[in-house]
Amino acid sequence: MVLKVCVIGAGIIGLSSAIQIQERVGQWDITLVADKFSPETTGDGSGGFWKPHMLGETPISDIRRWSVTTWQHLTDIATSPLAAQAGASTVSGYSLSSRPQYQEEWWKDLVLGYRHLSPRELQMFPDAKSGVFFTTVQINAVAYMDYLLRRFQKNGGKLQRKTITSIDEVACDYDVVVNCSGIRARHLLRDLEVVPVRGHLTRVRAPWVKHFVLRLDPGEEAFVLPGVMTSVLGGADEVGNWSTEVREEDKTAVWQRCCQLMPSLQDAKVDHHWVGLRPSRSRVRLETSHMTVQGRAVPVIHNYGHGGSGVTLHWGCAAEAADLVLREIQARRRMAKL
Ligand SMILES: Cc1cc2nc3c(=O)[nH]c(=O)nc-3n(C[C@H](O)[C@H](O)[C@H](O)COP(=O)(O)OP(=O)(O)OC[C@H]3O[C@@H](n4cnc5c(N)ncnc54)[C@H](O)[C@@H]3O)c2cc1C
Repeated sequence: MVLKVCVIGAGIIGLSSAIQIQERVGQWDITLVADKFSPETTGDGSGGFWKPHMLGETPISDIRRWSVTTWQHLTDIATSPLAAQAGASTVSGYSLSSRPQYQEEWWKDLVLGYRHLSPRELQMFPDAKSGVFFTTVQINAVAYMDYLLRRFQKNGGKLQRKTITSIDEVACDYDVVVNCSGIRARHLLRDLEVVPVRGHLTRVRAPWVKHFVLRLDPGEEAFVLPGVMTSVLGGADEVGNWSTEVREEDKTAVWQRCCQLMPSLQDAKVDHHWVGLRPSRSRVRLETSHMTVQGRAVPVIHNYGHGGSGVTLHWGCAAEAADLVLREIQARRRMAKL
């Protein structure tokens, strides 16, 4: 019997969840329903940088597992012939602190070549008192999203452009629903734990930028990430603001902070500005709930609330969302045999 699965959301979380389900079960009928597709999703605009962060009360063991799986997936692509079309590459650079003692991260043995900066290296960054150098993986987000979309369609996946006002609206037509609605889960499910963290990025033409530079000091965060066509400058974040309008004050703040971090940016040409909303939550929601629609029990697998780490966690979370889908189907089959 061909089972029908609906994945709500065509962002990096929805697409990767849909692919992981497809590639485990093959013959199911999987439809991705969303009102925004690449290049209009949050992931498309993001920095695309792999670096784990704490996410509210999300257990560190979960963050670790999801980040490690995603690291493996992205580095496999970055070191394969697929790298160019999927937009994945390794990238090296500096992470700086104004504290004399750099706070170590759990992932220091996972990234490549993690080491403390020498006094000579620190001289390049007059505001820093300590820092580390490492190699991580980064995606050119639009290229990667396009790669995921093509992979999903090549596997037989269907797309439907539609705005959904409630989960019931789709649940009546499917055996399983996977909810990857990102920041809009707040409205779709009335989940008040979902809160936007507004971020401004400025993309500039600066082909001389070859390393990333991150400044981690709370309240003064700034980062410069190199890219194929443009480099990404960022650092202005605001909790609870839903506006995606570009504001002059953010342009100025990001520009000044990043030029202080890397003075050579003064000659860079601005390509464009972008504002996005990180889908922040008290903890990432990756679990199953059940709803009854027209007398039928429909499992709903939730996978949302990844804050500023959706790129870093997506493949690991998608793998576990696919496990939850399979578990539900197996339970249903066992019940049917009774
Ligand atoms: C400025 C900024 C920089 C970032 N940089 C990084 C980074 O360097 N590294 C990193 O790991 N993460 C980064 N992130 C975080 C990352 O981009 C997000 O965590 C991730 O993109 C969230 O993906 P998502 O699929 O959950 O949501 P989205 O991309 O927002 O997708 C949601 C999908 O659901 C659909 N949808 C929602 N509700 C409905 C509805 N009612 N009806 C129909 N469709 C619906 C939308 O149309 C869309 O397709 C950054 C975020 C921002 C804002």
